[in-house]
Amino acid sequence: MNVLLLGSGGREHALAWKLAQSPRLTSLHAIPGNPGIGQHATLHDVPLTDHAAIIDFCRAQDIGFVVVGPEAPLVDGLSDALRAASVPVFGPSQAAAQLEGSKGFTKDLCARENIPTAGYVRVRDLESARAALARDFGRPVVIKADGLAAGKGVTVAMTEDEAQAAIAAIFEKPGGEAVIEEFLEGEEASLFVLTDGKAFVTLGSAQDHKRVGDGDTGPNTGGMGAYSPARVLTPALEAEAIETIIRPTIEGMAREGMPYSGVLYAGLMLTRTGPKLIEYNARFGDPECQVLMLRLDEDLLELMLATEAGELTGRPAPRFGTQTALTVVMAANGYPDTPQTGGAIGGIEAAEGTGAQVFQAGTRLDGDRLVAAGGRVLTVTATGATVTEAQATAYRAVDRIDFPAGFCRRDIGWREVGREGR
Ligand code: ATP
Repeated sequence: MNVLLLGSGGREHALAWKLAQSPRLTSLHAIPGNPGIGQHATLHDVPLTDHAAIIDFCRAQDIGFVVVGPEAPLVDGLSDALRAASVPVFGPSQAAAQLEGSKGFTKDLCARENIPTAGYVRVRDLESARAALARDFGRPVVIKADGLAAGKGVTVAMTEDEAQAAIAAIFEKPGGEAVIEEFLEGEEASLFVLTDGKAFVTLGSAQDHKRVGDGDTGPNTGGMGAYSPARVLTPALEAEAIETIIRPTIEGMAREGMPYSGVLYAGLMLTRTGPKLIEYNARFGDPECQVLMLRLDEDLLELMLATEAGELTGRPAPRFGTQTALTVVMAANGYPDTPQTGGAIGGIEAAEGTGAQVFQAGTRLDGDRLVAAGGRVLTVTATGATVTEAQATAYRAVDRIDFPAGFCRRDIGWREVGREGR
């Protein structure tokens, strides 16, 4: 089967690496891809926003299956356009992708289905936002722009001034919409399931590190590293999250005529009163995908095809290795605000020689030199019997990378390393 993968991040490099191992694969194509993805796929340049051009491409290349990596094409309805043109696709419909595309939509679903989440108010103008802030919430309070914001639309406001500045920024332009939320305390973990709209199987857990600096300091980023599984999500807590959050979501979406097909990624807060939903994403996380793919012991293409075909009923959960996997993001200096592109990158082979996998994100070839082309540049991923071991292997590999214009956090996995040391 000829498969087309859409996207260009470290997540898509990990998907390409895993898809390339499938015995069912004839050829792999990617749009737009990156030099790392190019090791496994033929790269093409077609705008992802041009649905007709993507469909023409699929016909011309006899593509039998499309895998959508990032959220924007899903929220934009690309899966619906492909399905309407009889091209099977891994990724939810536009209606179902609202679970990621609109925070207000998800909060309202939670309210209808009685899914544990932070108390909230949806507001559509500055006046009501100010009134709700004064009336309904203590401090800290969480303020979220409604639509996709690549992780930058959320403010955890510790003070009154921060809260006022956050709502003012959202309602600066006409048409702004926001969700104001109760602040939840606890440790965060991510839970992934594959669902065909009716049945679902679990893919397990991960924990990411969103802040740019060691010790979870500095601004939020797309993610600076992750490990899987996240043992803080114990089997009992995972079962509780499945029953109180995942199952009612999948059933509610189906009942309301928006069956969700694809990977559903739940961001959870493990509070004193149990897991609560922070957010849904309609795709794999980046960099959580890298650690999941390193542990997955099954044919990814076959799993994705079964998901799209509606064949998950009665299927056991996919097999994962018992190893822990951990990934460290190497970013260009200045990330997340002003990443400096163009920096030369060397040492990938030496790093992989230590047993790690280096997945590329924002890279490009300048002649035959690999250089940085974006904020997050490489994700260096390794396995081990424990998080401590996987962390040591990952950083040994990181230290072989020659990327003077880049940096990484040195403490990925710190919470679990601390627990393992006790
Ligand atoms: P991303 O796209 O990066 O996944 P996002 O923009 O979709 O993020 P959320 O995941 O909803 O936004 O929030 C970002 C972060 O803000 C969370 O990871 C969490 O640390 C914090 N956060 C969000 N909601 C709450 C809450 N109700 N209580 C406490 N912290 C919260």
